[in-house]
Amino acid sequence: MHPNCPEPSRRALLAAALAAGTLPAFLRHARAADAPRFELGVASGFPRPDGLVLWTMLTGPGLPERAEVRWEIARDEAFRDIAARGSESAELAWGHSVHAEPAGLEPGRWYWYRFEALGARSAVGRTRTAPAPDAEAPLNFAIASCQRYDMGHYAAWRQLATEPLDLVLFLGDYIYEYPSSPLALRQHESGYLRTLADYRARYTTYQRDPLLQAAHAACPWLLVWDDHEVENDYAGRQGNALQGDFPTQRAAAYQAYWEHLPFPKALRPMTGSAGQEMRIYGAHDWGRHARILTLDDRQYRDPQACQPAGKGGSSTVALRDCPALADPRRTLLGEAQERWLAQAWSADKPWNLLAQQTLMARFAWSDPRGADGGLYWTDGWDGYAPARQRLLAPLAERRIGGAVVLGGDVHTHYVADLKADFGDPKSATLATEFCGTSISSLGLEQARIDAARALNPHIRYGRSDQRGYVAFTLDAKRLQAKLMAVVDARDPASRVDVAARFVVEAGRPGAQPA
Ligand code: FE
Ligand code: CA
Repeated sequence: MHPNCPEPSRRALLAAALAAGTLPAFLRHARAADAPRFELGVASGFPRPDGLVLWTMLTGPGLPERAEVRWEIARDEAFRDIAARGSESAELAWGHSVHAEPAGLEPGRWYWYRFEALGARSAVGRTRTAPAPDAEAPLNFAIASCQRYDMGHYAAWRQLATEPLDLVLFLGDYIYEYPSSPLALRQHESGYLRTLADYRARYTTYQRDPLLQAAHAACPWLLVWDDHEVENDYAGRQGNALQGDFPTQRAAAYQAYWEHLPFPKALRPMTGSAGQEMRIYGAHDWGRHARILTLDDRQYRDPQACQPAGKGGSSTVALRDCPALADPRRTLLGEAQERWLAQAWSADKPWNLLAQQTLMARFAWSDPRGADGGLYWTDGWDGYAPARQRLLAPLAERRIGGAVVLGGDVHTHYVADLKADFGDPKSATLATEFCGTSISSLGLEQARIDAARALNPHIRYGRSDQRGYVAFTLDAKRLQAKLMAVVDARDPASRVDVAARFVVEAGRPGAQPA
């Protein structure tokens, strides 16, 4: 056996998992573990009509402080027709990560890429550029989130890698900062994350998974973070525990996040007025049909309302006991991002896809018409309801077509109508929401969701007992959604089924069962 081969158990697992799907040939052979200098595989992201980001990271013992990494990107899988070549310096200070940015590519086409350094060659990844601004190009994409490693295997990623996708939107909780229970399905490598070394090691644990690597190698991704990339329920510069040096911890977490994912160099964290900052919100166009708006609901938010004395983080409170829930001065996005978003919507594209972190629809846990005014979870949009109305209300007046809110975080497949007034089912539906379930993180009991459904008639579908993702296809006229559910998330070779299908017609907000 080659000394750098993975141990037999992992290899057997991988073989079983890969055999269960119908991965494209290059992915079946893209076993990054065979190339120890590129143990975490390859990835791409941020597709534009003329370029994108190619990512890898040097791994293994004895790395120099600075190493040259050559990259190439080709129009064919065999690398006979090279479109561009270059080299990057992988530096110790940035985790030996590589963020190459080839330019001058053709719009709307597939490419293959790979890296070479220190006598080793990486696996091959496949990627594509965004279509030209005036192209009538369809968009096939998926949303995914919440891949807690110690709670499940990544059968969802295996299935996703077989789908004909142009783009993956990852909507947060790429890692979790917790230690693992000794009884967990698999183990995080350490306890709670605090330092840069801790966060880097956690990404390494996750990114060694061959099925996650297959999903990264299959197509470009756009990513936003949620809380667990840093710490559960953090808010701006406030940590959950209200102790320790949280700004320093956050800076370490942001750096490891940038290092391990296909972000452009321009987004590398920088020192700003709030310590280390990384601007992840932005607009990405897909030809004539769609604008994708990515949001950041963590870095700039006000702390959660009505925190118990001496504690940070969230709780579930009655509106009657927490008037701050209705305070219009509180913000989830921060003032600058709110202002940016108000002018970033596209009035002349049929679809505006809002790629953000969590469920936007109101979700009352007790009857909102009762004496307590309803029970709400303070970490989600319900904790910032006036800010939600500031976001949604202008969509109708400004004739923003096809606003589709995409989310994750709550480990549940939700499909919802976003209403002008969530207290009045007859009020206008301003936007459509698809909040995708988790890749592997466990959800609440289904019975609790079922019991609350009657209090929230604008929720059309709610399944916390399904792990998976949502795959979409859109053109000028309609958006079709396929909610995917893993049969057994403890098995990397598990079947993944279509749990439900919905369709949204352009110009008619609200999803219909298909
Ligand atoms: Fe999560
Ligand atoms: Ca979360």
